Amino acid sequence: DVGFSPEAARRDIPILHRTVNGHPLVWLDNGATTQKPRQVIEALTAFYACANSNIHRGAHTMAREATEMYEAGRATVARFLGAPSPESIVFVRGTTEAINLVAQSWGRADLGPGDDILVPVLEHHANIVPWQRVAEQTRARVVPVPLRPDGSIDQDAYADLLSMRTRLVVISHASNVLGTVPPVREMTALAHRYQARVLVDGAQAVAHFPVDVTDLDADFYTFSGHKIYAPTGIGALYAKPEILEAMAPWQAGGNMIESVSFDRTTYAPVPHRFEAGTGHISGVAGLLAALDWLTAFDRTAVADYETRLTAYAQQALAQVPGLELLGPAAGRIGVLTFTLPGHTPGEIADRLDGDGIAVRAGHHCAQPALAHYGLDSAARASLALYNTREEVDRLVASLLELQAA
Ligand code: PMP
Repeated sequence: DVGFSPEAARRDIPILHRTVNGHPLVWLDNGATTQKPRQVIEALTAFYACANSNIHRGAHTMAREATEMYEAGRATVARFLGAPSPESIVFVRGTTEAINLVAQSWGRADLGPGDDILVPVLEHHANIVPWQRVAEQTRARVVPVPLRPDGSIDQDAYADLLSMRTRLVVISHASNVLGTVPPVREMTALAHRYQARVLVDGAQAVAHFPVDVTDLDADFYTFSGHKIYAPTGIGALYAKPEILEAMAPWQAGGNMIESVSFDRTTYAPVPHRFEAGTGHISGVAGLLAALDWLTAFDRTAVADYETRLTAYAQQALAQVPGLELLGPAAGRIGVLTFTLPGHTPGEIADRLDGDGIAVRAGHHCAQPALAHYGLDSAARASLALYNTREEVDRLVASLLELQAA
C-alpha cells in the first residue's frame, strides 16, 4: 500500500488499543461515528486548559485569541471543501442541523405550492424529514427518486423527474446504508439546467475521499465533524456566497445581529447571521485538529487504501454462506450492510460484540432504502482509514462461527 499505511493512523488513536469483552476492539461502526486521534483530544483539552473564552465579544486577549482560532477553523473548513471563501462556511451542530437550516431559511422563502424537491430513496432521514416538513409548510412536493436493484440511483428516472417545477435536488455524496457514491457532479449539472438548487449531504463522504464543492458546483454541501475524526456537536454548512447572502436568518438571538432596538433590528453579515448564540468553540478547535490530522496524509492514497480494503471485505464476506450484501458492487464506500439467513441483525451485532467487534444493527436512519430491499433492519459494518484486513478477517471468522453454531 504505497503512500498510506493504516498503522500510521492507528498509532494516533488511543481507543483502538482498548479491549471489549476480552478482545482487542475492532471498530466497524464508523458510519455512526469515527474514533478520535490524540491530536483532536489534546486540542479540546488545550482549549479548556489554556485558551477558554467566548468569541466575538469582550475586548480582551483571550477573546481575541479564541476568535482567531474559531475563524482559522472556518478558513480550514473552506480550504478542505474547496470553497471560495471562509465566509461561505457556517458552523452548525452537524449535518442534521445544516439541512434544517437550509430547509427553514432557504426553503421556507424559496419554495412554494407546486414546487418539487427531488429526494433519492437512499437518503438518510436527516435528508428526507426536513424536506417533508418544509413541503408541508410551503405546499411544495417531495418527489422520491427511485433506485435500481443494486442500490444505485436510477439516472433515467432522475432525468425524467426533473422539470421546471424542480426547485431543489438533494443527494448524499455517499450513502450511509448502501455505500452508493452517486455521480453528484453530473446530477448537479443536470439539475442546474432546470435552475434547480442542489444540496449535497457529505456526512459519509468527506472522511473517505477528497471533496471539492467548486468542482461539484454544489449549491449547498454539509458534513458532521464526528464522522471525520472530530468531536460531536460540530459540523459545517457550505453555501454558494450569493445564495447565503440572500438567505434570511433561521435561529435568532445574540451573535447574529448588527444592532437591536425595538424599532428596528439589523443582522450581522454572513456567515455570522446564521450562528446565533454561543457556538461549539472547543468543537471548532477539535475539528481544526481533525482536518489537519487527516490532510497530513496523502488523501488520494487513503482513498485508494479504503477502496482496496472495501473490495477485500466484499470478497471476504461473500465467503459466508447465505450472506447478502446490499448496495452496488463498485463505485462505493466501505459501508457494508448485510443480512444473514437465520439470524436477526440484532443477534448478529450481539454475537460480534461478544468478540469485540462493533457493528450497527437496525434501520440506519434510512428506512426507505431498506424498504427498497423489502427489509426493515440489517447489520452494517462500516470501514475507516484505520481499519485493516486482519480486522475484516476477524469479522468474517465471527460470522462463520455464528453460522456454524
Ligand atoms: N446524512 C448521512 C448520510 C448520515 O450518514 C448521517 C449520520 N448517520 C446524517 C446525515 C446525520 O448526521 P448527524 O447525525 O451527525 O447530524
